[in-house]
Parts: sequence; C-alpha cells; structure tokens
Amino acid sequence: MTLNDYLNKALKEGWALPHFNISDAVTLTGILEAAKELKSPVMIGTSEGERKFIGGKQAVAMINTYRDEYNLPIFLNADHHKSVTTAGEALNFGYESVHIDLSVAKLEENILGTKEIVARAKSINKDISVEGEVGYLVTESSKIYKEIIEIPPESLTKPEEAARFVKETGVDRFAPAVGNLHGIAANVKKLDIARIEAIRSMIGDTAMVLHGGSGTPDEQTKNAISAGINNIHINTELRVAYAEALRKFLADNPEETTPYKFFKPVIEAIKIKTAEKIKLFGSANRV
Ligand SMILES: [Zn+2]
Repeated sequence: MTLNDYLNKALKEGWALPHFNISDAVTLTGILEAAKELKSPVMIGTSEGERKFIGGKQAVAMINTYRDEYNLPIFLNADHHKSVTTAGEALNFGYESVHIDLSVAKLEENILGTKEIVARAKSINKDISVEGEVGYLVTESSKIYKEIIEIPPESLTKPEEAARFVKETGVDRFAPAVGNLHGIAANVKKLDIARIEAIRSMIGDTAMVLHGGSGTPDEQTKNAISAGINNIHINTELRVAYAEALRKFLADNPEETTPYKFFKPVIEAIKIKTAEKIKLFGSANRV
C-alpha cells in the first residue's frame, strides 16, 4: 500500500496517520519502536533544517533500511519545504512525499509553484504524495511560547480558496490553517472545527493535514479527526521529551560520556510520547 492508500484508508475509517519529525537516528528509533509495537503506519518528516542536518540521501537510506527490517509502512516526507528549489531537491534525493509550503506567497503564486512540484513528483513516480498549504501558521515548532499567541483571522484558510487550490494543483494532501499553531503557546489551542468541516466538504477525498498538533487538548484532536482531518503532525512534544530526558540523565550522571547510555532514556521518552499519539489518533493496528 502506498502513502496515499493509507491516507484514503484513514479517511474512510475515521483515524489519522501520524507524522513525526526527526533530527537524528535517536528520535527515529524511539518513534519506530512505538510504531512497531502498536502496528501503526507512520510518516517521518524532515523540515529543510532537519534534512540539512541529517543529509537528504542519508535520511532516505535510513528510512529504507528500517522499512525493510521492521516490515512496517514508514513514509519519508520533506516537511515545509519553502521553495520549488528545495522541494525539488528532496524529490531528487528520493523522498516519497513532499510538502511544498508556499503559504506566505499570494494564492496565485502558491498555486503555480505547487502545481510545478506536483507535476515533477508525478513524473518521477505517480505514487509520490504531494502536500500544499493555504493560510499560514504564525509560530515556529522550535519554540515554547511563554506569551499568549493571537491568531490573526486573515491567516485562517478560507474554504473556497482551499477548494480552488486543491482543484487547480492536484495535491494529494491539503494543509489548512484552522486555529492550529506550531510549537506550544501559553494559551490552550483552540481549533476551528467548523472550518475544518467546511473545508472537508469542499475538497472531496483529498487528505487534510493538521500541522502543529503538539499541545492540542485530546478532545479537540478527536473532534478534528471526526471533522475530516486524517493526518496529524507532531514535532515539538517529541523535542521537549527528548531534551528533558537528556537533561535529566546528564544532571543525574554528570560523569557519563557514552552516548548509547545517555540516549537510552531519550529513546524511551520518545517511544512513550509516540505511543500516546498513535493511540490518540487511532492509527494502532492499521497495518
Ligand atoms: Zn508544520
């Protein structure tokens, strides 16, 4: 089954395919241990920065190796690639999925660039899944915000624009701005469920992606899935689990210098957080 097959299955059966970002093999190991145990398909994402850190070829090789060894549907996505150039690079590296994020550009430019990446991807392999985005998120995944973040109404996705974008670009996945935020803010996230429903009613069976899933109350996540979200991104919560476990271990064991020892509790913390999300999204036992 291809990534798009799994997304279709998720939409029909009312669950969401989890997408987790990685910066290294430590995070990847924790995620995949949870996915294997719970028999969940997973998407692994690297942003432009994460991809540069790991290496594009290396990321592709790493995922291919784990997929064979674990016999699990693991799909590698170039997350938030912000230009036709960088999204094209990811395709050249062999990514099986790319998120071309031109959401800061005008809708017309966004449509043109996204269309170009859809055409390039499908010319390489029709099963490559492409995601586009309309509306923008005002925060970053690398941050824990101490302040209350106001979401400007003009940043939210208009359902008519979503419909036009999906129709004209032919994307496989659509990412809207529906009250979601990257990172974790001081305010409780408040998803616009009615807007998710309205967009869903206008984009047919196209997958709908919720970015910035970290820190969203479980009840809202479930409501978002019921309203038509079938793919959810988690990054910040894994980064926090990683950093906290590492800080604690090194504080408790200041003499320790062996990486495979001090990364052990990190992998465990990532595994626990990943398992929590897989259960919440309903993706366990879907392989
Ligand atoms: Zn995102």
